[in-house]
Amino acid sequence: MHDAAVDILGQKIALERIKTEIPVRWPGARPLSVEELKSRVKSSPLIAGWRLPAETVDADSDLILALPDLYPNALPIVALPEPPEAGELPHVELDGTFCLTTSSALMELPADIRHAEHVVREASKVLAQGLSGENQEDFLDEASTYWTLGQPDKREIWLTSSCPRTSKLLHVAILKHAVVLADNAAQLETWLASVYPGLSPRIKPAAVLLSLPEPIYPRSYPKHTGDLITLASTAGDKALNLLASTLKPGAYGYIVFSFEHNKQTVLLGLRSDTGAHISIGVKSRCPLWRGYRKGRVPGTILLQQIANAKFPVVRMGVTRVDSDSLLHRTAGSHAQSVSNISVAVIGCGALGGMAIQLLAQIGIRRLTLVDGDVLTWQNVGRHVLSGQNVGKKKADGMKADILARFPDYDVEAIPERWEQAWKETPDLFSGHDMIIALSAEWLSDSMLNTLSKQGPDMPPVLFGWVEAHALAGHAVTVLPEGGCLRCLTDKFGEFQHSVFDVPPEHRIQREAACGAFYQPFTAASAAPTAAMVVKTALDALTGRITHSEHRTWVGAKDQSDMVDASITARWFQDLQTHGYERVYKKPIHEQTECPVCGRLS
Ligand SMILES: [Zn+2]
Repeated sequence: MHDAAVDILGQKIALERIKTEIPVRWPGARPLSVEELKSRVKSSPLIAGWRLPAETVDADSDLILALPDLYPNALPIVALPEPPEAGELPHVELDGTFCLTTSSALMELPADIRHAEHVVREASKVLAQGLSGENQEDFLDEASTYWTLGQPDKREIWLTSSCPRTSKLLHVAILKHAVVLADNAAQLETWLASVYPGLSPRIKPAAVLLSLPEPIYPRSYPKHTGDLITLASTAGDKALNLLASTLKPGAYGYIVFSFEHNKQTVLLGLRSDTGAHISIGVKSRCPLWRGYRKGRVPGTILLQQIANAKFPVVRMGVTRVDSDSLLHRTAGSHAQSVSNISVAVIGCGALGGMAIQLLAQIGIRRLTLVDGDVLTWQNVGRHVLSGQNVGKKKADGMKADILARFPDYDVEAIPERWEQAWKETPDLFSGHDMIIALSAEWLSDSMLNTLSKQGPDMPPVLFGWVEAHALAGHAVTVLPEGGCLRCLTDKFGEFQHSVFDVPPEHRIQREAACGAFYQPFTAASAAPTAAMVVKTALDALTGRITHSEHRTWVGAKDQSDMVDASITARWFQDLQTHGYERVYKKPIHEQTECPVCGRLS
């Protein structure tokens, strides 16, 4: 901590105080020298430390109590005087430090002697549980942390495969910062092309997933290929055969172990080196080939030889990157309920781009993106796509953007106007559960509205747009039951339910020199409308809305005041009574004068 901060954060006073209190609280506490502190505990810079005698801490061992650099705004740490073997005790790091709190823990600050007493008490409890073996299960709760402790290769294995409880062969691609595994070469190629376009690493069938019947505890963590094959043999003969066909002499092989713990699948990875470290020139010396011609060693004999050779293995962490797993963290079981839903989005502009990303992230896996426009530099100020996409069709750019997150999604881009595509393919929208129209073009919206109400094979349509300056936004859901978009407009297409009137000089801006019109608003102002559109779509798709509905987001008053906007007569009472910065929901009733609904009734 730098000098100014020491004074402001009260370190000097706190340090003096605790230095006098510790020998009283733990008689016989021996202060550690600066050298001892530096050499002993490596996890963080320390400003003071003591060795507390075992009898004063009610533990089977002396404990080291030390104050981190940020004390008293961080908890004191506790460590064992001698570091244990890796994986000997749960909640103890390689340098002997106890892991007692998470970074999100709440505590009274600044810390003092009471905090020190607390962490010492906790550490002695954890030590006792560790020595008696009663907290062995904790090794499984944080299995991948213990598995990778002290391993030299910090790269992770990324598993794209979606059912990791079946033993199977996998394909592998090695990247600079990760190793990617997939069920087959085609799946891996698709994944790489989506997430890392332009990279084309070699794809090899050099990996295997082994489903184990029992969890792996640190005592059976493999240290070499002998241990590896012992562990793999617990998965049965089929697993051993798979392993034998994966481990090629003179090459790296990747193994993912899976087992169940607390009804969840735990995945642990490993790289075996069956002689890859032996340079090509002396490859013939590789013990695996002794007595055999290269590549002609029978599987079981090869496995035995690999086991006997005790080649090194490196344990690696595994992260599942299939969309099921990624969505489970965010949308939970909810993602499953929309996994078969298909949505077409018309308009991939600022609002459309945001909505498309949100739709993908809530778990809508089948998307058709329609927009004939090209992304320009003028767009990137509020579009979700970056400058790298300038010159591309927005629909193509959005497709690539979604697939870079979720390569296993089914996304189609139609980089032309929907009317054009629809003329060529009349059943363009059949098979979709909803159309979300976000282009805010009256002619297009009016036609979609009529088609949705009267056309065959047309799903419901949700229209979304923002008012001038994005002071308010609308989501109009047109369902078979209830009114339609034209029930809310006059015959010229003027929306009759806008919240604000903006004086003409503030309405629409014109670009210098090129004459293009644009609406000034920021992505932040439009974001609530994008979120409302997507939540509304979800409600309609999951049956929570069954009657046409008009939702309106009304933004902040100071924003509308800034452009001299006035509230329309229709909204005056609502805003007086219920206020700004909220969503209003109103049913849309069929209007007899509506040219669409009037004709139906
Ligand atoms: Zn109508």
